Amino acid sequence: ADRFISPLSNPVEDVTDRAIRPKTLEDYVGQPVVREQMEIFIQAAKMRNEALDHTLIFGPPGLGKTTLANIIANEMGSEIKTTSGPVLEKAGDLAALLTNLEPNDVLFIDEIHRLSPNVEEVLYPAMEDYQLDIMIGEGPAARSIKLELPPFTLVGATTRAGLLTSPLRDRFGIVQRLEFYNVEDLTSIVSRSAKLSGTHIDEQGANEVAKRSRGTPRIANRLLRRARDYAEVKGNGRIDNDIADRALNMLNVDHHGFDHLDRRMLMTMIDKFAGGPVGVESLAAALSEERDTIEDVLEPYLIQQGFVMRTPRGRVVTDHAYKHFGINKPDQG
Ligand code: ADP
Repeated sequence: ADRFISPLSNPVEDVTDRAIRPKTLEDYVGQPVVREQMEIFIQAAKMRNEALDHTLIFGPPGLGKTTLANIIANEMGSEIKTTSGPVLEKAGDLAALLTNLEPNDVLFIDEIHRLSPNVEEVLYPAMEDYQLDIMIGEGPAARSIKLELPPFTLVGATTRAGLLTSPLRDRFGIVQRLEFYNVEDLTSIVSRSAKLSGTHIDEQGANEVAKRSRGTPRIANRLLRRARDYAEVKGNGRIDNDIADRALNMLNVDHHGFDHLDRRMLMTMIDKFAGGPVGVESLAAALSEERDTIEDVLEPYLIQQGFVMRTPRGRVVTDHAYKHFGINKPDQG
C-alpha cells in the first residue's frame, strides 16, 4: 500500500483517468498485434451483425485490459456491463447480469480467475449456447430452469492465463496477451495524457517519464501527475527532462523505473538467497509480501528486463542485476 508505483488502480485515479482513457482502437497506443487482430475480428462481427466471440485478455495490472474491454464495446456499438470475479458471490448474481443483457452487449468480468466454481459453472452454457441453466428455490421445491439469453460477448481479464481453469479458458474464441510497452509507445501515452489534462511537457520530459514507468501506462500517467505537481511547485509548471528527473528521483523511482519494492526483492534474493534459485513462497515470506504480488506485479517486469530468470528450481538473479546494483557476484561453488 505504501508503494508509490503500484500498478493497481485506485478510486481517485479512476476519476481523473476518465478523461485520458482511450475510447477507440485508433487511440489505443502500442500493442500492434492486439490492435490489428481486434480491428479485423470486430469489423467481421459487425458485418455479420453478430456478437463478437468471447475474448480473454491477460497481462500484468495497468497494461490496458479494462481499457481494451471498453473499447471493444464502443467499437461494436454496444453497451458494456462491468463486474469482477470476487464480486460475483452466488450463481444468482451472475444470472441477474446475464438476463439484463441486450443483444451483442459486452459483459466484462475483471479478475475472472477469481470466480467461484458454482458461478463459473453457470458461465459455461451461457458462453457456449447463450443459455442460462439455474436452480431456483431450495429443498423439495427446488427446480432447474432454462432461459435463452441474447447473444453477447464475454470479455474476461486476468493477470496470467495459467490461472484459469481449462474448461473456462477453452470457451474463449479470442485470446489476447498484453505486453509491456516500449519507451516510444509510453512517450506517446504520456504526451497524449498531458495534452488531454492541460499539462505542459516537452518531448524529453515525456521520454524521461516513459523510461521510468515500468513499461506500464497506468504508472506513466501516475508519474506524469506527480511530475506536474513538482513542476508547478518547484518550477514554472513546465515539465522538461530536468524537472522530470528531479521529480522521479524524489519519488525514489530509479532510472530503470524500479521502486523500493523492486530493489528490495532483488536485494533480498542477493543477500538472503545468494542470488537464488529461490522458490516464490520463500521469497514471499522473506519479503512479507503476498505471493500474488510477486507473481503478478514484481516479477513480470524484472523478468522482462532481464534482471530475474525463472528456472525449474526457482527464481535466480541475473548478472544484469548484480551490475545494476554494483555488487560483485559471489563465486558459485
Ligand atoms: P488494467 O485493466 O490492465 O489494469 P487499465 O485498462 O485500467 O489497465 O489501464 C490503466 C490506464 O492506463 C488506463 O486508465 C489508461 O488511461 C491507460 N492506458 C492503458 N492502455 C493504454 C493504451 N494502449 N494507450 C493509452 N493509454 C492506455
